[in-house]
Amino acid sequence: MNGVDAGGSTSILHTPMSRERYFICPHCGTRSMGTDRTAGFRREARGCDRCGFAYLFELLDDYYPAPNAAFFSLDSDARIVDCGRGSFELTGIKTEQAIGRSVRDVLGLQFDDGSDHISTALEWEVRVKSKPVRVNAEHDLPARAIADIFPAYDDDDGGVLVVLTPTKTNDS
Ligand SMILES: [Zn+2]
Repeated sequence: MNGVDAGGSTSILHTPMSRERYFICPHCGTRSMGTDRTAGFRREARGCDRCGFAYLFELLDDYYPAPNAAFFSLDSDARIVDCGRGSFELTGIKTEQAIGRSVRDVLGLQFDDGSDHISTALEWEVRVKSKPVRVNAEHDLPARAIADIFPAYDDDDGGVLVVLTPTKTNDS
């Protein structure tokens, strides 16, 4: 009778300490989750399973983009790296026309409170949440949107993800 004593249940292996991590693809907006303890979950190597984009953005909190939200990735100098899902519908701009250019020139964002929230997010690496903004994209009519800006916490090169959710436009 040297069988394993399975009656004790002494070890709890599902540790509640592992922090859940939220990710979003800056190109197609697909959300995903992981934990610190997941083997092989190397942040720098993780691309999007859905669209194949090269990297994912880590979020501090889960975020549910609206179906018509527009995604823009910026580098640490606020230059456009990628125009993702919804960007063309909102601004008429494609990545090829915008890549490497200042987001100020391309999108002409005017925040209602007069702040430059993109600079704030880049400089302080803080999440900017739900800021009403007027989008004055070049070659397109002005549009209203709500801006969410996510800093790249893990990326040595910095940068931000800007998500613009179009809002009903009855003001002018
Ligand atoms: Zn993707």
